Amino acid sequence: MTVIDLVPYEDALATYDPVMGLEVHVELGTKTKMFCACATTLRADANSQTCPVCLGLPGALPVVNAIGVESAVRIGLALNCDIAEWCRFARKNYFYPDMPKNFQTSQYDEPIAYGGYLDVQLEDGEIFRVEIERAHMEEDTGKSTHVGGATGRIHGASYSLLDYNRAGIPLIEIVTKPIEGAGARAPEVARAYVAELRELIRALGVSEARMEMGQMRCDVNLSLRPHGTEKFGTRSETKNVNSLRSVERAARFEVQRHAAVLNAGGTIVQETRHFHEEDGSTTSGRVKEEAEDYRYFPEPDLVPVAPSREWVESLRAGLPELPRLRRNRLREEWGISEHEMRSVLNAGALDSIIATIDAGADQAAARKWWMGELARRANEQGVEATALPITPAQVARVAELVAEGSLNDKLARQAIEGVLAGEGEPDAVVEQRGLKIVSDDGALGQAVDDAIADNPGVADKIRGGKVAAAGALVGAVMKATRGQADAGRARELILERLAPAE
Ligand code: ADP
Ligand code: MG
Ligand code: ZN
Repeated sequence: MTVIDLVPYEDALATYDPVMGLEVHVELGTKTKMFCACATTLRADANSQTCPVCLGLPGALPVVNAIGVESAVRIGLALNCDIAEWCRFARKNYFYPDMPKNFQTSQYDEPIAYGGYLDVQLEDGEIFRVEIERAHMEEDTGKSTHVGGATGRIHGASYSLLDYNRAGIPLIEIVTKPIEGAGARAPEVARAYVAELRELIRALGVSEARMEMGQMRCDVNLSLRPHGTEKFGTRSETKNVNSLRSVERAARFEVQRHAAVLNAGGTIVQETRHFHEEDGSTTSGRVKEEAEDYRYFPEPDLVPVAPSREWVESLRAGLPELPRLRRNRLREEWGISEHEMRSVLNAGALDSIIATIDAGADQAAARKWWMGELARRANEQGVEATALPITPAQVARVAELVAEGSLNDKLARQAIEGVLAGEGEPDAVVEQRGLKIVSDDGALGQAVDDAIADNPGVADKIRGGKVAAAGALVGAVMKATRGQADAGRARELILERLAPAE
């Protein structure tokens, strides 16, 4: 491996203009595979979800998954694409051990959806339009595990294991047109595009699109051309990047690497590259000087797909509100800034907050608990807040107890702690831990009298008209009741008892 000195990012941008192409694969969440009735359950025993069709045994006949086609059409429509009136599947022929048929059933020159766009919002609120070349249907490959080597790659491994459970799971591949004009913001655009696409896929309910689980993966194509020139440079293609942050880092690294090669008078070879999480670098994979010859031909065992216009229009009518528009609507309804909304999104808390509001909490309280206490606890445990063992309904109940004055914030945090510790529903935790706020004048009155008796100096000041000193006594009451007193009521009682004589 040759070590190259990267060009500083700003310097690279001073000379060159990046052009990108993003290819995103989305694994659909269908119950069965794309061309057979095998289940798609995660983490099943290896090769337990296979049949003659997805193993490519001679004579097996595939049948198209209707939900797979419907999902593809809905994705295409949400991306503002045209939907083909008639299209076919094609065989993409190549040999690889994780592909038992020796061809992948895909689409070639007849994609089901083409010519669309997705508007993405950048950090500063600006909208950038990414044009979509096509979205087509295909199937996933099996999974190889290379055992014995140091890197987990096939080189150096002593043997490989193959699991065909994933072979034949429906994939939709979404390919952008070359993205030009993003300049220095190219890496940010790449990240924002994949983030927006992920939200869209989730809103459509066609996949959970969890990148860390490989349900959505992105190939980042990138080239540089000198400012003022039209012709695209040679691209590199960084494969299977599986987080938003990595998409941004991979694009940035490639800008710096390409610039280094070009500045030194070298030429970029068209190749695939691997991305490395540890240091954000990419290394060479497979050289791809010319388009590989996959000997594509129309799949003879599958009937063409001809979505009727009526059906397409009914699917269009049933599309959900676009995530970007929904976010902007909620932001306005809640009266929060772009920045606050972005924090909510980055925390992955939007859906939980909405569910908490739907369960009866007011929006400010719902946001406060998810972005405050729960975000903090999630952070401590290194998980997303949504992964904590508390439901939006439980958070809403805690918020309700605060709103009706039964709990103050401190007690509410203890109630949440109890729910997270598996002590049951919020009401049960409050009961068992004795968290009810002390506001009845009997118990509270006693605590107030004790505080006055214990602090005669402070009491005298208040009697003398120094009302501000009441804070010290409220503090004493809170301490005596272990934070369970209604602080406002305690203050009233203190001032009543220590009113200056008229
Ligand atoms: P392949 O399957 O060989 O990777 P595709 O056409 O499916 O080719 O995808 C290539 C992606 O890269 C597309 O998004 C395309 O817009 C983009 N692209 C093509 N040429 C260039 C280039 N010179 N620089 C950057 N991106 C490019
Ligand atoms: Mg590609
Ligand atoms: Zn099967």
